[in-house]
Amino acid sequence: MELSKRVQNVSPSATLALSAKAKQLKADGYDVKNLTAGEPNFNTPEHIKEAAIQAIRAGKSDFYTAALGIVELRKAIAKATNAEYHTDYTFENVAVTVGGKFSLYAVAQTILDPGDEVLIPLPYWVSYSEQVKLAEGKPVFVLPETGKLKVTVADLEAKRTEKTRAVIINSPQNPSGVIYTRAELEAIGNWAVKNNIWLIADDMYNKLVYNGNSFVSLVELSEAIKQQTILINGFSKTYSMTGWRVGYTLANKELIAKLGTVVGHATGNLSAVSQYAALAALQQDQSCVEKMRQEYETRLNEIYPLVEKIPGFELTAKPEGAFYLFPNIQKALKATGFSDAPSFADALLSETFVAVVPGEAFGMPGHIRLSYATSLEDLREAIVRIEKFVEKYS
Ligand code: PLP
Repeated sequence: MELSKRVQNVSPSATLALSAKAKQLKADGYDVKNLTAGEPNFNTPEHIKEAAIQAIRAGKSDFYTAALGIVELRKAIAKATNAEYHTDYTFENVAVTVGGKFSLYAVAQTILDPGDEVLIPLPYWVSYSEQVKLAEGKPVFVLPETGKLKVTVADLEAKRTEKTRAVIINSPQNPSGVIYTRAELEAIGNWAVKNNIWLIADDMYNKLVYNGNSFVSLVELSEAIKQQTILINGFSKTYSMTGWRVGYTLANKELIAKLGTVVGHATGNLSAVSQYAALAALQQDQSCVEKMRQEYETRLNEIYPLVEKIPGFELTAKPEGAFYLFPNIQKALKATGFSDAPSFADALLSETFVAVVPGEAFGMPGHIRLSYATSLEDLREAIVRIEKFVEKYS
């Protein structure tokens, strides 16, 4: 029996496949250093878990909630966002979803017609292109010409057509950790307003910013830019809550109402217990966020110079946010004789048990992504093994 063309056209997540292989080797007893993780290596803070347990005991999690989430949580998200960006969102501007991942999926379903084009700057998070395809849209990749891993208006304009409906801006960026400056975002925002293009702001890593760098969101730049921005965020990275699957979208009320229809037919609602956990995360002590941020910062500052020293590894700039390094390894590939990053990563895993993600997964061959959402001890050991591996083949 035939499957849909839509589904045949979609690739599985390369990052998930690799981490599955690394996990299997670990289960077989090998000393694997897994640098593929896209999630924090901290447990969810105790007070958040406790609030969830209390919600269960009080019977609050026993029933369906509204598709867009419980009003208390939607209000708390609007309030926290307004406090941060001086915006004026109300709960009607907020949709709570099963992870930021489903927010992005539902947004694609809500704004795209078949053949509509979405501009996706390279490198990009693996799911963007496949979600656009599942909505029968067309992903259009945009290579930053500056060599800085950030697109400019000139880059975007070169790819704009009559069919361009949206552009996705992810800052701090997965996989490179770059952050767009206010001026860069203003230029892109004004260009989108002028051309009637939706701005999808994936701000998932907005709380993971290091070494005095600052984060600016598109929604704080001007009313016109905010009106055209669909903001995506979630609790996974900020509060170390990946398993709870809490994400959200902020946008104009009409879009959110329609998105609620998509959510209502697709998932119903995010599990009620996760919603109460998220509510506690926002309403209680925020020091856990800063503590985890500091830990990532310490790791980044220690490993960045070590990775930079690996022969043939080049980092355009020190990452400013998120929890990844994305070295260009083209010189190392040349020196070691591996034809591409996937064959390098495969041999690295089989021979040294260090798992990394090849840049192909993010649309940028010749690179690998190293996650530092793992202990410093493991990071140090992994870097030693990578260095020895490169030396052995050079
Ligand atoms: N956006 C980016 C850039 C991400 O890296 C991730 C997770 O890895 C997500 C969105 C989705 O996160 P979640 O679905 O856990 O909220």
